[in-house]
Amino acid sequence: MTMLLPEERAAVADTCRTLQARGLVVGTAGNVSVRVGDLVVISPSGVSYDAMRAQDVGVHRLDGSAEQATLAPSSELPLHLAVYRSSDIAAVIHTHAPASTALSTVVTTVPNTHYYSALFGGPIRVAPYARFGTDQLAANVDEAMRGRTAALLANHGAVIGAGSLPAALTQVGYLEYVCDVALRALATGRPITELDDDEILGVVGDLHGYGQQPTR
Ligand code: 13P
Ligand code: ZN
Repeated sequence: MTMLLPEERAAVADTCRTLQARGLVVGTAGNVSVRVGDLVVISPSGVSYDAMRAQDVGVHRLDGSAEQATLAPSSELPLHLAVYRSSDIAAVIHTHAPASTALSTVVTTVPNTHYYSALFGGPIRVAPYARFGTDQLAANVDEAMRGRTAALLANHGAVIGAGSLPAALTQVGYLEYVCDVALRALATGRPITELDDDEILGVVGDLHGYGQQPTR
């Protein structure tokens, strides 16, 4: 049988290895998916990233059923599907990155310590805790991600969405940085000077024009 979406499957496995190499997941924690039309390519559950091959990565439909998969999909398939159903996000990465996870236990919204919160559409919410792999966790994340491209998962980790897998990987790094800065500020015990939500939302607009612009 011809393997569907071989490049996307290989990219998902490579992204898992990159997360591990960057210390954003430990062991088989975390999961990665990319959407192609009505199909979702997602990492398998509990497979060592070193050993993960393209053919181990499954292809599923938006209702969760398998289109082509030899292994069980990530236990967080419901979470990934919920994000895809509610947005135009095309790639989702879930991590257990240390700063995001630690911060998720002490706040319900990431403090606006850095204007980079705007990279995720506005102040970053923390989805209330629900057990991993449950529909309840998927619903909590779906709610926390409304109008955003990232959320923390209380006592668990973080989820990031973007228009492509490389873009999502970049955003994972920014989110961990924002959470690390907030954690360090909180750790001083001194009052934090936060940016107000309006400023963060203003930066969201300005970021659309940030960087190299096309030459006229
Ligand atoms: P999977 O190995 O099933 O993707 O689970 C890892 C995880 O992070 C669960 O939240
Ligand atoms: Zn997890």
